[in-house]
Formats: sequence, structure tokens, C-alpha cells
Amino acid sequence: MERLQNFINGEFSSSRSSNTLDNFNPATGKVYGQLPASNEVDVDDAVGAAQAVFSKWSTTPTSERSRVLMKIAELIEVRLQEFAEAESMDTGKPLGLARKVDIPRAVANFRFYAGAAEHFFSEAHIMEQRAINYTLRQPLGVVGCISPWNLPLYLLTWKIAPAIAAGNCVVAKPSELTPKTAALLAELLATAGVPAGVINIVHGEGESAGAAIVKHPGVKAVSFTGGTETGARISEVAAPQFKKLSLELGGKNPNIIFADCDFDKMLETTLRSSFINQGQVCLCGSRIFVEQPIYERFRDALVERTRELKVGDPMDAQTHQGAVISQQHMEKILTCINQAKEEGASLLTGGERVILKGRCEKGWFVQPTILEGLAADAKTNQREIFGPVVSLMPFKDEQQVVRCANESAYGLAATVWTQNLSRAHRMAAELEAGILWINCWMLRDLRTPFGGMKHSGLGREGGFEALRFFTEAKNVCIDLTT
Ligand code: NDP
Repeated sequence: MERLQNFINGEFSSSRSSNTLDNFNPATGKVYGQLPASNEVDVDDAVGAAQAVFSKWSTTPTSERSRVLMKIAELIEVRLQEFAEAESMDTGKPLGLARKVDIPRAVANFRFYAGAAEHFFSEAHIMEQRAINYTLRQPLGVVGCISPWNLPLYLLTWKIAPAIAAGNCVVAKPSELTPKTAALLAELLATAGVPAGVINIVHGEGESAGAAIVKHPGVKAVSFTGGTETGARISEVAAPQFKKLSLELGGKNPNIIFADCDFDKMLETTLRSSFINQGQVCLCGSRIFVEQPIYERFRDALVERTRELKVGDPMDAQTHQGAVISQQHMEKILTCINQAKEEGASLLTGGERVILKGRCEKGWFVQPTILEGLAADAKTNQREIFGPVVSLMPFKDEQQVVRCANESAYGLAATVWTQNLSRAHRMAAELEAGILWINCWMLRDLRTPFGGMKHSGLGREGGFEALRFFTEAKNVCIDLTT
């Protein structure tokens, strides 16, 4: 039985209460480890350690901070297989996906912000002969980074890397469901040259450890990725303290397919954007709108390709679809499918739990599922399911599809498939989403702003946006006339 520990002030320790939580492997349904159930006392220790080292870290030359980030990237890369296995075991995702996407992306996050920190600049505004203004961008102090279970190390490092690159010290809390890669990260920080206290990792439940980070007066900003309801609860606590908040929340993204698209490329990508990571990526396109002339051709092709996806042991190289994160989440997904049927949806494929043989017989697997026949405003098309479930809807024209796509509380991402350039630009301007993909999906450039509108969040991560978030802008005006 593996026993993970917190990482506070450069040392591994149990929670002060010694309470623990079980860590499950979703593919087997079995407990394989334990993690500290931390609370506000542990968070207070972590904030204290971070505060103590802040003046040292924030005045470390940027080039040196950058070197440390590069070294972290290198050390993760050396242990890529070990990190990927840990990620797959915690999440149930196919090992190949963790090897190809999750861990390389965590490496890229550190490398990218090692470079970005050195290129980050501040502005000067010259008032002709009279005065000069320049902007200081100073680190905030101690910041909180709270991340979800779907892309554990990928999303945690997307926050930690810019935070420390900008000179802040971090108290981070990974999801209680997926703590292992954060614990592995902690193991290599000292070797990378990260001073004790600069990155502290506190494990535990959101309602205790997470809430304590948000509430702590020593935490100056909170960068959060997770569900919309949790984001709202965090805002209620952080807003009266005027903490800076970055919220990356849920989505119900439209995937809009026009008849003039490159059909083969669209189909291949739509299969991925529907079911990658068992549909548990905030950017997955779960509402698929298809122009009427190709609706039936598309539907039949997608159903055929989906039936070919192999649901299986995440450690098996042939597996396309692994387990979903927890029994509770599996039950939620199956309930949503049943409610869709009650709403009048036809089930084109999937819809059931998958029981595998052998070591995964008790694992939490769900068939990739395609629904059709529901209106855009049906409950199934409005609420985030966050599983391998998509809903198909035919549409008549551009105006209708823009109206239906925007008829959502969410506004994270949207995909448009068309060869018509003017239409592509019109759609990009009209769709209510922070991230637009035209004839592609998940093509990520880390320099670009990342985040959602409406109930999908507040603020943007990525590129210099994150460095701006993790710094305070201070304008200095110098009168040149005296
Ligand atoms: P949750 O909101 O349940 O949890 C996210 C993190 O917040 C976890 O570490 C959780 O801890 C913690 N947490 C829970 N309650 C509190 C609280 N009151 N105060 C502080 N922290 C708290 O999300 P999930 O982990 O279930 O992740 C799935 C959601 O994340 C989906 O809605 C998905 O769309 C969204 N997401 C958004 C992305 C984006 O970029 N917009 C990217 C990826 C996912 P614990 O779980 O340990 O209790």
C-alpha cells in the first residue's frame, strides 16, 4: 500500500492530524494507496513556509529561476514512463495517452514558462517631453493552485510553472482522486534547485484542504481549474478578501460541422474530440451540430467508428478507452444517459457500463455513447456530463446553429468545420466561447490566451496572460520637468 505525503518546506510529512484518504485505481476499482487528509493546519504550515522563502525567491534573478524550471522539465522527462504509469493508474486513462499527452505537456509547461519569464516585459508610456511612466510587474507573494483530476499533472503544472516563473511561492492542491504525479513532482524539486518552501503540495479534500487555501489571508491569489459550482463557491470566499482569481470551469462545447468540410479529417478529429480521455476533457465537443445534407452520412460513419473503439485495461496498448475517474462519476454518467432517454433521445450506440474480465473486472468503464433526437435546449444538451457521451443535432443554416450553439450557460470552446473562409471568420466572431478551433481541435500553442466566457470561467491562462495574473502591475510616473 503506497502512502503519499504532503510536501511542505522541502520535506515530506503526514497531515498534522495523521488522517488519510484512500486512493483508488479506477481501472480495478481497488484501493492502492493512501494520501494525507490535510486541513487548515497543514495549509497554514505550507503558507508559512512559502512566506518565509518569498523574499529570497522573488529576488532570485529571472535567469536563475528560468534555469530551475528547465531543470524540473528535464527531470520529469527522464522519468516520463514512471510519471505516465502513475497518471494512468490514478485516472484510469490509457497509458499511451498519459505518455503522449499528459506528461509531455507537463514538461512543456515548465519549459515554456522558463522561456516566457525571460521574455516577459513591462510597458513604458512616454508623455512627450513631460513625463515617463513605466510599469513594474511584481510577484504577488504566496499563491494557491487548485486543480482537477482529468489531466492532473498537465493542469497543475500549467499553474505552478507560471506562478514560480514570475517569482511567487506556491501552495498547490491536486485533486484528492489523483494525487500521485504531484507527489512524484515533489520528489525532484530539490534536485532541480527549487528552494524549500517555494512549491508546497498539500493533499486532501477540496472542502477542507482546498477551501483552507482559498480562505487563508496569506494567499494572495487563487488559480483554480474545476467545476463551475466549485468555482462559484471559491468566488464567494475569495471575493470579499479581494484576492486575484483565475477560474477555468466547466464546458458544454459545440462542434459545428458544415457540409463543405473536409469530411475525413473532420470525422477523425471528431472521434477524438468526443471520446479522448473517456470524454473527460473540458474541451471535448459534446454537442455535435451537423448541417442537414451530411447528417445521415456523418451519423452512420461516427457510429461505426465509435463501435470500433476498444474499451479496456489502460495498461494494454490496444486500449482506446480506459476507465472513468470514480464509481460515483460512472453512476452520474449512466444516470445522465438514462435521463437523456427519458427526455426522448435515441441511443445510437453505447449507453452501458462495461464489465471487463481479469484484473479490471471491478473497474469503472462506460461505453462511448452517441445520442440523437434531442432539442438544443434539452437538459442533456445543457448540462455538463464530462464523460464519453455526445449528442447529435442536425441544423439548417448558419444563423440557426449559432443561436443553438450559444444557447448554453457555458462558453469555453467551440469547433467549426467548413472550407468557407468568410463563414469561418463570421462564426468565430459570433460564437460565445473563449477558444475557437476552425478545422482542427486541441491544437495548442502555449502562447495563446486560454479560458472561457460565461459560466466557463474568469480570466485567461497561457502565455503572458498567466504571468500578468501572477504579478501585480504598478505604474511609476516620473515628472521630467524638474
Ligand atoms: P471540482 O470542482 O470538483 O474539483 C476541482 C478541484 O477543486 C479539486 O482539487 C477539488 O478537490 C477542489 N475543490 C473542491 N471543492 C473545493 C472548495 N470548496 N474549495 C477549494 N477547492 C475545492 O472538479 P473536478 O475535479 O470534478 O473536475 C472536473 C471539472 O473540471 C469539470 O467541470 C471540467 O469541465 C472542469 N475542467 C475545466 C477545465 C478548464 O480549463 N476550463 C479543464 C479541466 C477540467 P477534491 O476533488 O480533492 O475534493
